[in-house]
Formats: sequence, structure tokens, C-alpha cells
Amino acid sequence: MRDDARLETIAVHSGMNGVTEGGHHVPPIDLSTTFPLPDVETGGDAYENLATGGDLLPGQSAVYQRLWQPGVARFEDGLAALEGSEAAVAFASGMAALSACLIATVVAGKPHIVALRPLYGGTDHVLETGLLGTTVTWVTVDEVAAAIRPDTGLVILESPANPTLELVDIRRVVEAAQGVPVLVDNTFATPVLQRPLELGATLSLHSATKYLGGHGDAMGGVIATNRDWTTRLRQVRALTGGVLHPLAAYLLHRGLRTLPVRVRAQQETAGDLARRLGAHPAVARVLYPGLPGQDPNGLIGSQSAGAGSLIALELAGGYAAAAKFTESCELITHAVSLGGIDSLVQHPASLTHRPVAEHARPGAGIVRLSIGLEHVEDLFADLTTALDAALLVAESARELHPHSA
Ligand SMILES: *Cc1c(COP(=O)(O)O)cnc(C)c1O
Repeated sequence: MRDDARLETIAVHSGMNGVTEGGHHVPPIDLSTTFPLPDVETGGDAYENLATGGDLLPGQSAVYQRLWQPGVARFEDGLAALEGSEAAVAFASGMAALSACLIATVVAGKPHIVALRPLYGGTDHVLETGLLGTTVTWVTVDEVAAAIRPDTGLVILESPANPTLELVDIRRVVEAAQGVPVLVDNTFATPVLQRPLELGATLSLHSATKYLGGHGDAMGGVIATNRDWTTRLRQVRALTGGVLHPLAAYLLHRGLRTLPVRVRAQQETAGDLARRLGAHPAVARVLYPGLPGQDPNGLIGSQSAGAGSLIALELAGGYAAAAKFTESCELITHAVSLGGIDSLVQHPASLTHRPVAEHARPGAGIVRLSIGLEHVEDLFADLTTALDAALLVAESARELHPHSA
């Protein structure tokens, strides 16, 4: 591949080192948990190199699947090429990836985290509980600089954020962080729409379970970062064991190859639906950064290349309407997760954001849609039917309690 290859070409061809040379057209799946050692001395050297986070050297044994796995390494190379990072480190899930970052900063003597809400519910929970030995200061963009301390190890943000889809100005946060590494959860945007390292962030984290895999059949996490963090994260991975399975790595790597087409097609449908759904009387507000007025800082176009394919709807009838709406979708599956080829709907306040502190929890009337690759009119019809059902619930509640607005 030429150095000036475009994103679509990189997506199809990256991470393929050694595949053709090995006589394959697609990456082979190697399920070996252990790898033959040529002799005691070189085997020991390889072990030490890999257990401390080094790269597999040419001709060296991979030793043990927890230390190095060729298919996982190919997925990592593919993702790093898309993110424009020096390297990437993959894990068993997005939460395993996040945990590794937190462990790495705790062992470096910097256990204080500055974090911007809203975040993915699991991220919020692990920070709020301090499960991994971190402490957290929750801030807005304006409060980042004042919250930085000598023991601050990471600033954590998500953009678009989960589930309200607010955009956070990554460059501003990087500047305010005064050299403290900024970790951006890039799951919603994907490297197709946003490359945080080009904006000054140090770590770009993905739940690969979502858009990268894209088909709802493989769980994984991955972090695109620099050499230094790569070494540290690989060491944490080797010692704590949150490794990605080679079959999942194969599927996630295959997912990267269609990522640009999927992300753009899903985004086009989502934009169309977001513009139309606001007209339904059951909808109080459509939350989608591509709608007029919802990107006050003009970040689409300067920070990201688009608004993505997640939409949140705030229903006028509150919790009862939201519950009715999710039950009434037929084509769209009521399930957690997002970013796949089929559309999903979920109620964040009672599901993914249930562990979040009450004052920071999304409103009870909010539902989140992940728009897939179905035809826009089929989705619109399903959503309209479900919104009609939600409206009936809201209206009958008003008749029973006419003064409770
Ligand atoms: C799903 C998700 C995670 C967690 O990833 P898992 O693969 O489920 O562990 C983290 N961040 C965001 C934004 C997510 O959507």
C-alpha cells in the first residue's frame, strides 16, 4: 500500500502483513495457545521481551497466546493504520481496555482521573466505585484545567457522548490538560469520523464490539496510542490476562474492512431519520449532533467528519412512553449495544446508565437508537408505529392526571 493511501483503501488492506507471503488471501486463524520454542535461551529471551510489552521480533517465538497472538496483532495494526497511531493494543472487551489504562496509570503513581460526564455507564461506574484504585473528579470542559493535580494520570472524555450525543471539544480539553494524557472513548465516532490522536489526545479507546466488528457477533476492545503506552498496556494485558480471542480478532479485523462504507451509510440514514422524527407529537426532542443548533461549537467539520448513526429521542410522555416505545419497535430490536448492521433501541436510564449517580443519569424519557443498514423507510415506518403507541400512553396518563403536565 502506498503511503498516501486513503482511508477506504487502508481499511481494506491494513494489517495484512505476511498474509500473501504465507500463501493466504485472507488472514489465517491460528488457535494455538502455545508456540514451539527453538531452544531454551532464545525462548527465554522471547518470553522476557513479550512479557514486558515488546514487539515480536522477526524469527522469534510468540511463546504463549497471552503474550502475543498473530491475528490479534494484525487487527491491532489495521486499527492503528486507521487511527493514524504508532500502534494499538487489543483486549477482550472495551471495559478490559479501559481497565488496562486505569491500572497502568495507578502503577505509575498517578491514580487521580479527571473525567467529563456523560460517559458510557460502565466507565462511569468503574470510575465512581474506584474499583481499580483510582479517584475521580467529575468536570465540565471549563473545569478541566483547575482539576489537574500532580497525581492526575488521565483525562477521560467521550465524543459524541453516551447517551446524549453531546460533542466535546477534544482540542480544548487537550490544551486544558496541560500535558496530562487525554483518553478519548472513540467508540461512537470510529476513526472514519474522528481521529483523536490527530487532535492531541494520547489514547483513543474503542469498544470494538460496536462499529469496528459491526455485526454484533464479536466482543473486543482496542486502544490506539503511542509506543510508550503500547508497551505499558501490553504489559498490563500480559499480566492481567484480558486478551482478545483469535476468532474474535479475525472477525473484528474483517469488520474494519467495511467500516468506512458501513459508518457512512448508517450515518446517512440516521441523519434522515433525525430530521423527520422531531415532527412526531410523541417526541419532545431529538438529540443528534447533526441537527441545527446541536453543535454550537461547530465541531462537525473541524473535529469530526460527521454526526454518526446514534440518535437519542426524548419522549414527551417520560418513562411510560419510553417503555412503550421500546416494546413497540418490531424491526428494531430492543437490546443494548450499538454500531451493528441492524438497528437497536434501548432505554439508557434503566439499562446501560443504571449504575450512574442519579443526578448524572439520563432522563427517564430518553431512548437511544443505533441506526443500522436497513432501508430508511422501513425504519421510519417501525419508529412511527412505536411513537404512535408511545403517544397513546402519554395521552392516557394526561387524562388520568390532568394537572401533572
Ligand atoms: C460498549 C461501550 C463500552 C464498553 O465496551 P465493552 O466491549 O462492552 O466492554 C465503552 N464505551 C462505549 C462508548 C461503549 O459503547
